[in-house]
Amino acid sequence: MTSTAAPAATRPDPFDLTEEERAVRDTAREFAQRELAPTIVLRDEEERFDRALFDRMGELGLAGLPYPEEYGGAGMGSFPWVLACEELAVADMGMAVSLSVHILSQLCILLAGSDEQKGRLLPPMTAGRHLGAFALTEPQAGSDASAIALRADRTDDGYALTGTKVWITNGADADVVVVFATVDRSRGRDGITAFAVERDTPGFRVGGHERKMGIRDSASVELVFDGARVPAANRLGDEGDGLRLALSGLGAGRISIAACCVGVARAALEHAARYAAQRTQFGRPVAEQQMIQAMLADAATAVEAARLLTWRAARLRDAGRPFNAASSMAKLYASDTAMRVTTDAVQIYGGAGYSRDNPVERFMRDAKGAQIYEGSNQVQRLIIARQLIEEVRRTS
Ligand SMILES: Cc1cc2nc3c(=O)[nH]c(=O)nc-3n(C[C@H](O)[C@H](O)[C@H](O)COP(=O)(O)OP(=O)(O)OC[C@H]3O[C@@H](n4cnc5c(N)ncnc54)[C@H](O)[C@@H]3O)c2cc1C
Repeated sequence: MTSTAAPAATRPDPFDLTEEERAVRDTAREFAQRELAPTIVLRDEEERFDRALFDRMGELGLAGLPYPEEYGGAGMGSFPWVLACEELAVADMGMAVSLSVHILSQLCILLAGSDEQKGRLLPPMTAGRHLGAFALTEPQAGSDASAIALRADRTDDGYALTGTKVWITNGADADVVVVFATVDRSRGRDGITAFAVERDTPGFRVGGHERKMGIRDSASVELVFDGARVPAANRLGDEGDGLRLALSGLGAGRISIAACCVGVARAALEHAARYAAQRTQFGRPVAEQQMIQAMLADAATAVEAARLLTWRAARLRDAGRPFNAASSMAKLYASDTAMRVTTDAVQIYGGAGYSRDNPVERFMRDAKGAQIYEGSNQVQRLIIARQLIEEVRRTS
């Protein structure tokens, strides 16, 4: 591999970026290439989340990019944020996903928190000094989040949380975890309530680490709540509002997961195109074989389409328009694209693609999870279909 510049055909088209948006994208790109790319192979091998790199993203203003300046954010909204996500994921999808989850945890506080909670919890998070996590999934409640069993029992001064969360990204290192619990299981979804649980809360501890296939530099863990004492001042919103909050947060969070998928797909395409141009078989570069060209052409087209869906969802959200179906479409299409393009990149490399000495096998492992987390792609199809059917019923 000689050049590190992206082929023009795979670069995001800057046709409607403002100067400010370009500056955000370039900052993220430079950071990703200079500070994430050189160590990603080692961090992936060691399955290690590097807090110092997260701190650097905070210093660069990336940890609170979309959020209001009054809480220390850059006040830029979703669109510049997805530009940054794509660039980070080109070098390191795990770190991009960790940052996305941090951004999602802040969104829950922003949407449901009181002025006091926002003023207290958000500024250290937007600055990147405090890391956030989002804890919804439990051993028996994944796609069906309304089935969560983690109990929040009322006490004199707040709540005692009892139960277990699994797969919690950033959970091991988080300073603030947005936790969803039920105050009364018999109320079903109307019992689900959100809490901001701080790191040293008595009765709260980190359990086992998930041994993941991909994004291994982003740690996902079990969190154990053994009567964890959470003050009433840390309840986010009213009792019973938790599931709606989780679903609204995820609706927005999916846009950045889509952007991460565009990033990893683009990285795979760039590597595959370069490899195909230099690898010679039967006396000519494999890039001259039409079957290889078809894979590259399909990949380049799908990456563009995934990016446009992602940008559209971000633009709709920034314009204050309904964006839920658009964010599900972006996440569904971009993660399926990432899986297909990374798999084809391994194919284009041949045996070399199956070796851990080349990055495409990591891209393929990294891409897979995005078809599962923040709502599996089956669940995204349900959301999109439901919205479509509702619209048809409303208008006919
Ligand atoms: C890398 C990674 C990071 C994660 N990070 C977090 C995190 O930070 N916080 C958090 O709370 N969770 C996190 N998760 C958990 C993730 O959100 C869940 O894995 C996901 O919601 C799916 O739940 P499940 O694994 O229990 O699968 P299940 O819900 O058991 O689903 C099993 C299969 O059935 C399908 N299925 C389920 N219901 C339906 C249906 N109604 N129709 C059609 N098909 C269906 C699913 O698509 C899937 O294929 C993470 C997961 C991974 C892999």
